Amino acid sequence: MEKRKVVIIGSGPAGYTAAIYAARANLSPLLYEGFMSGPAGGQLMTTTEVENYPGFPEGILGPNMMENFKKQAMRFKTDILTEDVKSVDLSSYPFTVVGSKTSVKANSLIISTGATAKRLDIPGARDGEFWQKGVTACAICDGAAPIFRDKHLFVIGGGDSAVEEAVFLTKYASKVFLVHRRDELRASKIMAQRAMNHPKVEVLWNKRVVEVFGDNIVRGVVLQDTVTNKEQKYEAGGLFFAIGHLPNTDFLKGQLATDEKGYLKVDKGSSRTNIEGVFAAGDVQDSIYRQAVTAAGSGCMAALDAERWLSEKGYID
Ligand code: NAP
Repeated sequence: MEKRKVVIIGSGPAGYTAAIYAARANLSPLLYEGFMSGPAGGQLMTTTEVENYPGFPEGILGPNMMENFKKQAMRFKTDILTEDVKSVDLSSYPFTVVGSKTSVKANSLIISTGATAKRLDIPGARDGEFWQKGVTACAICDGAAPIFRDKHLFVIGGGDSAVEEAVFLTKYASKVFLVHRRDELRASKIMAQRAMNHPKVEVLWNKRVVEVFGDNIVRGVVLQDTVTNKEQKYEAGGLFFAIGHLPNTDFLKGQLATDEKGYLKVDKGSSRTNIEGVFAAGDVQDSIYRQAVTAAGSGCMAALDAERWLSEKGYID
């Protein structure tokens, strides 16, 4: 089986930045960019304009930014596999990485698999019901579908994702309702204002969605008031979850320590996990900042930590 000094799992800002640094350190990294597990390039592939990544004063589209990250990683000779990693074996050294087609041994491993949007278990919104037939967890990916055109669309959540997605959906919807379980948004002031000032967006405070109904497509939702418990039916053509994310760690099968939310634990101020030689970067280890720029920064840390560790252990000169 082929052996690599550095194997990087994940292709968001963290993974590509780790690759750029590892490649420039002559470590010939191998990067698994994913295939069925989600879009290669990570969450920014399903974002529109990124306005807060330094160096782009006019902003840049998320997919364009990730294409640039990838090109830069390839320029320094990163090998990229378009495969999902199915499992890793961290119990023996060198570690084994089992991809959907290719398995490799790794002297060091950088995990940067990101996080996935959460869903709610609501009657009507489940698999086999209206899930992916009017109910989705990614407005940016799915919002332009014809079924959502000129309809009343509902977005659940009160964070930056929810307000961003609500505004995005106004391009297609006749009206967007932002359903939030409390009476105050969690989103940053500037983004919340953009949604609240938008003529097509209405915030429904203290509400939760308790049912999705329809025939062959979504026709409506039932909302419950979180204060009075009163329920009310609304006409709806679509429902979008924007309630946060879960870290993508299933393939690790519990081999690395996590916090109570399932995010990989790293030593403070570093990318070191509880297993020597395994490093974590990006959203898979960050439930707090979760920005492209912090992910990229932590990818750089992981590559530098891996290089130092390989050198200390005598695996590289
Ligand atoms: P988030 O900040 O964790 O917000 C999740 C929202 O979903 C909260 O308002 C939460 O309600 C609600 N929620 C969670 N579980 C729920 C449930 N079971 N039922 C109903 N509502 C529920 O997640 P996010 O909006 O995805 O943002 C994550 C991070 O990415 C943040 O740091 C954010 O700033 C960043 N982000 C930045 C941008 C940007 O700058 N362009 C865009 C998107 C995201 P409560 O408020 O009541 O807890």
